Amino acid sequence: MRVLVTGGAGYIGSHTVLQLLRERHEVLVYDNFSNSAPESLRRVKQLANADVALREGDIRDGAALGASFAEFQPEIVVHFAGLKAVGESTEKPLDYYSQNVSGSLELLRLMTQHGCKRIVFSSSATVYGDAHYLPIDESHVLQPTNPYGRTKHFIEEIIRDWSASVPGSCAVLLRYFNPVGADASGRIGEDPMGIPNNLFPYIAQVAVGRRPHLNIFGADYDTRDGTGERDYIHVEDLARAHFAAITYAAKSHGCEAINIGTGKSATVLEMVKAFEAASGRKIPYQIVDRRAGDVARMVADAGKAEALLGWKARLTIADMAATTWNWQINNPDGY
Ligand code: NAD
Ligand code: UDP
Repeated sequence: MRVLVTGGAGYIGSHTVLQLLRERHEVLVYDNFSNSAPESLRRVKQLANADVALREGDIRDGAALGASFAEFQPEIVVHFAGLKAVGESTEKPLDYYSQNVSGSLELLRLMTQHGCKRIVFSSSATVYGDAHYLPIDESHVLQPTNPYGRTKHFIEEIIRDWSASVPGSCAVLLRYFNPVGADASGRIGEDPMGIPNNLFPYIAQVAVGRRPHLNIFGADYDTRDGTGERDYIHVEDLARAHFAAITYAAKSHGCEAINIGTGKSATVLEMVKAFEAASGRKIPYQIVDRRAGDVARMVADAGKAEALLGWKARLTIADMAATTWNWQINNPDGY
């Protein structure tokens, strides 16, 4: 299919584009490079030995995005573009509503105008807010606790309304849990700008000597060892989930929200141990106060993904640690 990928130069986007090229889809990436660089796609092309069309622009720029629709005539959109830092979203909520919500509105308007009826959207487990029960299934109440999560929730609702109004349309809202890891080649991976917010890139930078130690945000949670527990999902499995979602959307109608996780959880200390085993390096850490807004445990019920998409995570925590380390050691300063 002809797949227009917004935000395709970013972390999850680049891994997904690689998967789509390997599956012989035709891809146009539309990205403003606000949190990425064209180098990721240069490497994706090398790895896949295939071409990707690339257009630079903001998703809110209707003229530029519309030109890409007119030129490429996509049959489906995979929509990654947007801002994603929870902390920053509490400081700059309007930027988040503008880029994420207004950007998605512009995208849907152009899809309608150009007769494109299928979309796979990057949502997040943050739409659930505090877990009322575990594992979390898709019918859990949606009560996001920060502006970033609310943008994802609002976009989901907007896409649902859009889909209901467009006969023959199909929308798949993928609610990712905690994506980590890198392609096995070590050529592409997560390259955060500034100090990493997320656990795994932070650990990787400690291992490679860019930061002195890890701060563990709380060891007094009601979990196996007191540190936070999350459902980490390998980015290669996540990329495969997008391929499965595209295949599903090509032959289905309606709008479905689907969790993408493993159904298993790991604590911060377990992730540290996995990384030490993969890298052969000691990860110094300090226990500090809990981070505001963090929850003790999150784990996905991933049954719907298997039932609807025929998709199931395959890779382990050891794979996540090994591929992250391989990426980090080969690219100590990122791209
Ligand atoms: P990323 O920042 O690496 O990728 C996002 C890409 O979108 C970047 O290439 C960026 O330059 C581009 N972009 C941002 N705003 C844009 C705009 N207005 N117009 C055009 N391009 C724009 O992030 P990622 O980790 O790859 O995340 C991709 C998507 O998945 C995001 O929507 C994010 O909210 C969602 N998500 C990520 C995680 C995670 O932990 N990484 C978890 C759940 C959901
Ligand atoms: N965490 C930590 N130190 C860090 C970053 C994260 O201890 O520098 C913990 C965090 O408290 C949570 C887990 O690691 O328990 C995963 O956090 P991350 O920010 O990667 O993802 P989140 O689940 O918050 O989206």
